[in-house]
Amino acid sequence: MPDAKKADILGCSIDIVDIHEALEHIDFLIEAGKTEQVITLNAEIAYAAREDQQLQKIINSASLVTPDGIGIVWAGRLMGYDIKDRVTGIDLAYRVSEKAVNQGWKIYLLGAAPGMADKAAVNLSSLYPGLQIAGSDHGYHKKEDMAEVIKRINLTQPDILLVALGAPRQELWINEYKAELDVSVCIGVGGSFDVIAGEKKRAPEFFIKFNLEWLYRLLAEPSRIKRQAILPLFVLQVLKNKYLSIK
Ligand code: UDP
Repeated sequence: MPDAKKADILGCSIDIVDIHEALEHIDFLIEAGKTEQVITLNAEIAYAAREDQQLQKIINSASLVTPDGIGIVWAGRLMGYDIKDRVTGIDLAYRVSEKAVNQGWKIYLLGAAPGMADKAAVNLSSLYPGLQIAGSDHGYHKKEDMAEVIKRINLTQPDILLVALGAPRQELWINEYKAELDVSVCIGVGGSFDVIAGEKKRAPEFFIKFNLEWLYRLLAEPSRIKRQAILPLFVLQVLKNKYLSIK
């Protein structure tokens, strides 16, 4: 593994990487040839992990944890870490696909509503001609069908498995089935397939540039308020951690 600096945010160990370094890491992990887990960590999941030891253990044993979301970037900087930018699931999905063309990596897409991963695969293939899509499947299988789902993935021998089940469901899923998967790298990419498939819009450039993507998502999907209400709690906890040394 290349030497990466780590940031500790509320007990979660995060790699201080930008998108280029994250891609280099993934390249390295594929060369290593085991089944490695990549997590794009947002504030909501870091906050939940404080009271969920299993989740915290999964995060801290992942091979690469990138800073996803402005909350994590802000907290990291406040703690004095040199975190430059967000490395989100959707950015990784696109950039890994782009890099896969030259590297000859095969990608499998698992997740989202029926048909969505197939559509995302078609769109990625037309964006990056020469991309090898190993296969695609939806994210609503019953537990008893999982052995079959995994068998189909393994038969296609992908290098990378993009798992879009939403966080932390995808982190738990990857952790549970890692040992059975014949894949080098599994990356949790949240709701990315809905966007890549063209079903949902990503925030306009303005929102992304000013770190307001969370606000756009809230305006587009007001039902996210419950999840996003965690952000102020996360901020409070980080401040307590830093200034009052309260864990
Ligand atoms: N999803 C899934 N299986 C499930 C529940 C959710 O495949 O059992 C998919 C859902 O269709 C959506 C994604 O997971 O495509 C979750 O998107 P969201 O934007 O909520 O995730 P986030 O990026 O916030 O983690």
